[in-house]
Amino acid sequence: MGTRIHNFNAGPAALPLPVLEQIQEELLDYKGSGMSIMEVSHRSKWFDDVINEAVERTKRLLKLGEDFQVLFIQGGASIQFCMIPMNLALAGRPVDYINTGTWSTKAIKEARIQGKDVRVIASSEDKNFSYIPKGFEVNKDAAYLHFTSNNTIKGTQWSTFPQSGDVPLVSDMSSDIMSRPFDAGPFGLIYAGAQKNIGPAGTALVIIRNDMLERVPEDLPTMLKYTTFAEKNSMFNTPSCFVIYTINLVLKWLEETVGGLENMERINKEKAAMIYDALDRSDFYKGTAEKDSRSLMNVTFRLPNEELEAKFVEEALKEGLGGLKGHRSVGGCRASIYNATGIEALRALVEFMAEFEKKHG
Ligand SMILES: *Cc1c(COP(=O)(O)O)cnc(C)c1O
Repeated sequence: MGTRIHNFNAGPAALPLPVLEQIQEELLDYKGSGMSIMEVSHRSKWFDDVINEAVERTKRLLKLGEDFQVLFIQGGASIQFCMIPMNLALAGRPVDYINTGTWSTKAIKEARIQGKDVRVIASSEDKNFSYIPKGFEVNKDAAYLHFTSNNTIKGTQWSTFPQSGDVPLVSDMSSDIMSRPFDAGPFGLIYAGAQKNIGPAGTALVIIRNDMLERVPEDLPTMLKYTTFAEKNSMFNTPSCFVIYTINLVLKWLEETVGGLENMERINKEKAAMIYDALDRSDFYKGTAEKDSRSLMNVTFRLPNEELEAKFVEEALKEGLGGLKGHRSVGGCRASIYNATGIEALRALVEFMAEFEKKHG
């Protein structure tokens, strides 16, 4: 095997090594079929078992009740920005949004394009999205409240979710789904592009509560209706077979190797503490998110100047630490430390940071 780096990419991102090894092992002959999983029919028992297992594992890991459906929809998380208002808005009622960064802003834009009565009830734009807003009021008649649970680019995360009373929560969990347990009860819909924490790019995992399906207008294009996917077990058309297969293996790893989301959260907290402690001990590195809003998944930080930041990213890569450049829209550095990035990667990073500071600080 060639040398694998410590992967801090934001997305597509690291996958668990045992998952990649299993893919490699069964690539040429999937379960005696004489074909790879990419070559079998999506109508075959082989693939049927894969998608059903992925659905069941999602339900078990997130402790979803019978009133939830698990769907796989192509178009990434971004198609959800438009599908949500299209399917879930209600005539004569506003839709509430909280703006915590680039992805929330895009979700808001798509709802506005459709002419919905969008109310942005809270925003952290005043301080460059460096915090999670508190003390806002949800409109009691809102059709839903949309928020981004983890802000991949700005490095902030909701540690507890907004209280919305009877208004269903809708959340973009692209970059922290399956990183911690939570109560799905108040959620009407949860979505996540797979390529951050649960698989390769090409599909969004969508969890929808049955009462939301009753809202879907009849006159929408077939491929943009949640009911189309719910009625056909996500196989109205050909799904992203390979992506769903990989997601299922990642979920299996979470269940059987990690031992569930409580364990995953404990490990994720331990990992995040290692790098945040390093930032807090130093005057050289500065975290960009406010302390009470820090993300356990994407750690954003700055060095004294852009030149040093470029050098940091470059020298880190020479040491086998990849993907530490901040998003092009914000600059700086970012370490994405999703589920598949292990403690040993964090140890290597923290050690490198100390060395780099000694040399350049
Ligand atoms: C990456 C990301 C998206 C966009 O996902 P695509 O699958 O590329 O459409 C949306 N929301 C969040 C929070 C993300 O991290």
